[in-house]
Amino acid sequence: MKRCLSILLTLLLALSSASVVLADGPDGPPDTPFRDIHSSDWFYADVVTAFNAGLINGKAPGEFAPNDLLTYAEAAKLAACMRQLHDGVSFTPQNDVGMWYEPYVTYCKAAGILWADYPWNQPATRAGYMEIFASALPDTALAPINEIADGAIPDLGALSEWTKNAVYKLYRAGIVQGTGDDHACQPYDSIRRCEVAAILTRMMDPAKRISFTMTAPEHRIETISGVTYVDGILIANKTYSLPADYAPGGLTTECQTALDALMAGAARDGLSIYPISTYRSYEYQAGLYERYAARDGYAEADRYSARPGHSEHQTGLAIDVNSLDYDFAYTPEGIWLAAHCAEYGFILRYPEGKESVTGYRYEPWHIRYLGREIAEEVTASGLTLEEYLGITSVYAD
Ligand SMILES: [Zn+2]
Repeated sequence: MKRCLSILLTLLLALSSASVVLADGPDGPPDTPFRDIHSSDWFYADVVTAFNAGLINGKAPGEFAPNDLLTYAEAAKLAACMRQLHDGVSFTPQNDVGMWYEPYVTYCKAAGILWADYPWNQPATRAGYMEIFASALPDTALAPINEIADGAIPDLGALSEWTKNAVYKLYRAGIVQGTGDDHACQPYDSIRRCEVAAILTRMMDPAKRISFTMTAPEHRIETISGVTYVDGILIANKTYSLPADYAPGGLTTECQTALDALMAGAARDGLSIYPISTYRSYEYQAGLYERYAARDGYAEADRYSARPGHSEHQTGLAIDVNSLDYDFAYTPEGIWLAAHCAEYGFILRYPEGKESVTGYRYEPWHIRYLGREIAEEVTASGLTLEEYLGITSVYAD
């Protein structure tokens, strides 16, 4: 127990990047060590314990600065300290030249904790410090205790697999639990010093880790007259097809109205966005797909053209605009579309780098109508529609 406490205190000490002074004043430690810490603060116990033991100071006399943001440099220093404490070795940084954090960065790189440079003096994002902390200790010291289903953390959509793995590792080890009922990670937010104190405690003391479980979100899949709806959203992709006779005959009224509004909005900004392909019938798509397959072969055609019944254009809710050219993404219209289409109820349906998820190559010109609320939610999540709804897009054969 004493060892655990001393480890914790040493780590809290390490939270201060400036020189640290032992707080053994002549009057003894006050009950409330810092003006900016209150007994109702959830992190109160962490900070007071450390202060009363005389091993932590604030950033300035009387101030712990609990809301100051942790920088990447501080995260690297803490990671180095954690590893050394775990390994039972001591480390004396060689502070002769350069920035104060450089010895820690060098140590972390040699120890396999850091694989890249970060903007060291910038506040760390939550995803960023988790990348570093997830490697700070050996896997055996961060063993999973929690059942956290793949895909259960709701807001990691656009992060790399490597980063996601780091976040899941810390959730599963009980180091972090996110915020809110859905345990959101808020990966792009910063992290405050007061939050880090509790995380360090859990990193170094398995008894302090948090037990919780997260199940993958449940989605309601219904089939009505052969048409698949997931959470009420009509889906046509490689997994879910439409019947040959599903034929709205054109864009739905709601979609057409939204498209008109989008075009008017673009026009107000001096730009011209116009449809070049909207509704396509099952039969039309069949001919189109066969022509592409004859030209490029079926395997290649499957990367950009839907088999009949699988095209989103058959829904009357999808539109190709302006140009079927990747460079469209870099035109003022393409940039405007990506930035504003959600305000009109559309998403860019096939984002770059998501072919393995959506089943299709990047299409900066293809928008799908979802209604404003869902379109904005999907866009903000950084997820593809497949990821958002927890579904696949793969042909059965
Ligand atoms: Zn399209």
